[in-house]
Amino acid sequence: MLTIHNSLTRRKERFQPIDAGKVRMYVCGMTVYDYCHLGHARVMVVFDMVARWLRASGFDVTYVRNITDIDDKIIRRAQENGETIRALTDRFIAAMHEDADALGVLRPDHEPRAMDYVAGMQSLIGRLEEKGLAYVAANRDVCFAVRKFDGYGKLSGKSIDELRAGERVDVVDDKNDPLDFVLWKHAKASEPAEAKWDSPWGSGRPGWHIECSAMSADLLGDHFDIHGGGQDLQFPHHENEIAQSEGAHGHAFVNYWMHNGFVRVDDEKMSKSLGNFFTIRDVLKQYDPEVVRFFILRAHYRSPLNYSDAHLDDARQALTRLYTALKSVPVEAVAPDWNGPWAQRFRAAMDDDFNTAEALAVLFDLANEFNRGGEPALGQQLRALGKVLGLLERDATVFLQGRVAAGDGLDAAQIESMIEARSAAKKARDFAEADRLRAALLEAGIVLEDGPQGTSWRRA
Ligand SMILES: [Zn+2]
Repeated sequence: MLTIHNSLTRRKERFQPIDAGKVRMYVCGMTVYDYCHLGHARVMVVFDMVARWLRASGFDVTYVRNITDIDDKIIRRAQENGETIRALTDRFIAAMHEDADALGVLRPDHEPRAMDYVAGMQSLIGRLEEKGLAYVAANRDVCFAVRKFDGYGKLSGKSIDELRAGERVDVVDDKNDPLDFVLWKHAKASEPAEAKWDSPWGSGRPGWHIECSAMSADLLGDHFDIHGGGQDLQFPHHENEIAQSEGAHGHAFVNYWMHNGFVRVDDEKMSKSLGNFFTIRDVLKQYDPEVVRFFILRAHYRSPLNYSDAHLDDARQALTRLYTALKSVPVEAVAPDWNGPWAQRFRAAMDDDFNTAEALAVLFDLANEFNRGGEPALGQQLRALGKVLGLLERDATVFLQGRVAAGDGLDAAQIESMIEARSAAKKARDFAEADRLRAALLEAGIVLEDGPQGTSWRRA
């Protein structure tokens, strides 16, 4: 029985999908004007793990993670670079995919781009206006009137007055209430035509919050199971999504809200001004992507995650212990044996609000047992359970012999030593081992050619 900590009720609840056997999940994705940072890595890996676990539990999952490709920062960056918004966002979407692929993050079922859903956003704003929840402000922006929506603040657990006290009130603008937020931004002459759409409220573009309400409704319906995102989005972004969606449709929007914790660097908030800001690419220059994934999953998703070289080095050592145990275990697609004692403990941990910290602890116990001379099936079980988390899917030799940094690959000495080991295996007629080494090298991008003079190699 799966339980999920629901941010809306602030407690763990038994998970029951709206439609039996099906889960519809939406996660707020990236605003694509720069490379993804460690905070993005965490959101992508955490909800990839959630989707994998739901699927492993037998649910038919539809997972949507959106792309925000209309935004003030995007417009500004494109103008600074002297390029189109499309060119800028296409480039950073490609970069995001490279980072996600490296981290073993499977593609969501849908990755809607906001630009393709503007009509849906406009019809949602129209409904809010009909219901008296939206108004045109003096500056011609269309705003949501938070005081007209009964449940405003329920996700934050605060009243409107408490929320207002936490807001900066020195911002002078044209809104009726400082917490009112923009649904439709009136176009400015200086903005490019690419960022302007005709609408009943004049030329302009959607606000950020309405993007997610419209895209989720289009792809998942206006009432679905799980909505996720980073903790920093809980207020105001998710509070505003609830107000828009429930305000427009007149019924519940999402049953379970999930938020992952912050990423800190050396126990400080990660920020460009503090000089401790890391992109995923920066980190992958130093660490194997699987080490980074392991590091993220080793913490419970709701806990803060503290990035430091010491913690990453520790993660690398821990993952090395698991791969060392797997040295003799071939990479084969084997499903876990869920009746086994370790698999049962693993399942219990994952069913307890996705407790990956505990699930990984089970893998270490299993590796210890296997190392003490356990039967080969235990090695397969270790691989199979690792795979459920998107880990331990590589050939152990490849992991252990390096590939420390992404793209670095093996150096010549490592390659030669693996070729020698393969020749020795062939002489000993251990062809399975020889094939395994050839496959391992191929995975590292090294192609072998056997000739009369022996074996030569080249990079693929
Ligand atoms: Zn969102």
